[in-house]
Amino acid sequence: MYFGVCTFTFCRTCYYPAMNHFDVIVIGAGGAGMMCAIQAGKRGRKAALLDHASKIGAKILISGGGRCNFTNLTANPENYVSQNPHFCKSALSRYTPQDFIQMVKEHRIAYHEKKMGQLFCDKSAREIVDMLVAECNKVDAQFLLECKVQEVVKTSPSPAKGEGFTIKTNQGDFSCESLVIATGGLSIPKVGATDFGYQIAKQFDIQVVETSPALDGFHLKQQFNDLMGVSVDALVTCGKTSFRENILFTHAGLSGPAALQASLYWRPGNSLTINFIPQVPLGKLTHWFQDYKRKGSKSEMRTLLKEWLPSRLADRFCEMELKPPTITLVQLSNEKIEEFCAKLQSYSITPLSTVGYNKAEVTRGGVDTNELSSKTMESKKVPGLYFIGEVVDVTGWLGGYNFQWAWSSGWAAGQAV
Ligand SMILES: Cc1cc2nc3c(=O)[nH]c(=O)nc-3n(C[C@H](O)[C@H](O)[C@H](O)COP(=O)(O)OP(=O)(O)OC[C@H]3O[C@@H](n4cnc5c(N)ncnc54)[C@H](O)[C@@H]3O)c2cc1C
Repeated sequence: MYFGVCTFTFCRTCYYPAMNHFDVIVIGAGGAGMMCAIQAGKRGRKAALLDHASKIGAKILISGGGRCNFTNLTANPENYVSQNPHFCKSALSRYTPQDFIQMVKEHRIAYHEKKMGQLFCDKSAREIVDMLVAECNKVDAQFLLECKVQEVVKTSPSPAKGEGFTIKTNQGDFSCESLVIATGGLSIPKVGATDFGYQIAKQFDIQVVETSPALDGFHLKQQFNDLMGVSVDALVTCGKTSFRENILFTHAGLSGPAALQASLYWRPGNSLTINFIPQVPLGKLTHWFQDYKRKGSKSEMRTLLKEWLPSRLADRFCEMELKPPTITLVQLSNEKIEEFCAKLQSYSITPLSTVGYNKAEVTRGGVDTNELSSKTMESKKVPGLYFIGEVVDVTGWLGGYNFQWAWSSGWAAGQAV
């Protein structure tokens, strides 16, 4: 029996043990969580967002270099990695980039397309957080910050309303009918990432696809310290998937957008193929060098290669592939030139690992989509329990796709909770 003071409508009669009752509790006040609470609130559901952090939307604030690449105009299921590539289709088609853009416009947030459909705020990612918080406030969704969950228990709080959940926290106990897990992935622990979502899945016997850091680039066996800071337009292929964008040599190995994208597909032991000169076909590139040779050029190969590659990379490539690296074009046979060009366009490298969760933009893997309804994100095993956003085994490419998944999956759950 409850003897304290209960201020909540549901407990007006104190018929049930006193708790702060909500129709919907969303654990994780990130992009997905806020979108879900907004949608639930619009349907008249009393929602609370519970987060252990003191700051709302920390990942949004640090995203896109502080300008938040909040969606991608071209987002479609092919831009996502999941054990079930079809799972994301329903949510992405029901809440599209245009839907989110509409909200951004309504809040008069100025934005621009940087490249390849990637939309960024003109000013600051803070505007996206402010917009979502304002929308949450509009529907009276309550924020419970610095709230540490100690236990989640499946209960039957109301014989009339059926089963629900009790969430025991450092701020007291809360109850709800629908519990939404929106605690994101493991990347960047220093801004609040935890394995909470996977632990809840485990508690309820829900399968989790093995997780790993992604969109983080690579550690390499070879040392390329001399190339640190060199960036070049390249085509990077991992398995059947290729990305053409810049790569950047770092003290650790390989970064830059094309390397980050490839890390989403990479598994330990896989090699990458790098085409350092993707803008011309192999035949044309070979002829270009052979033409110089025919004209009797006395130039060193590495000097001519600088027409195509940054100087330091050209030097290093010749050091690795030519003996001596100062060899002139006329000293090379046509076959050797052809071989050299083929190497430039399909250089194979086997990374040691990806860079890891401290740098990763996302976590690949997560709650197994076979366990969830693709329409509502509700667990098939545990009615009333939902998983949305990055915690689910749906991981997008670099370029605004991950936020679009957060919005779309949050929206889908918001229609059902
Ligand atoms: C540096 C960086 C830059 C990025 N830039 C972009 C970009 O420009 N575009 C893009 O599309 N994607 C970007 N991403 C990816 C994107 O931020 C995420 O995919 C997205 O934020 C996932 O949203 P979410 O709501 O699922 O999870 P999150 O945004 O991670 O939110 C999870 C929330 O849950 C809370 N939480 C975690 N554990 C607990 C717990 N135990 N108890 C209570 N609360 C908890 C966290 O504090 C957090 O508020 C970037 C990621 C990083 C790290």
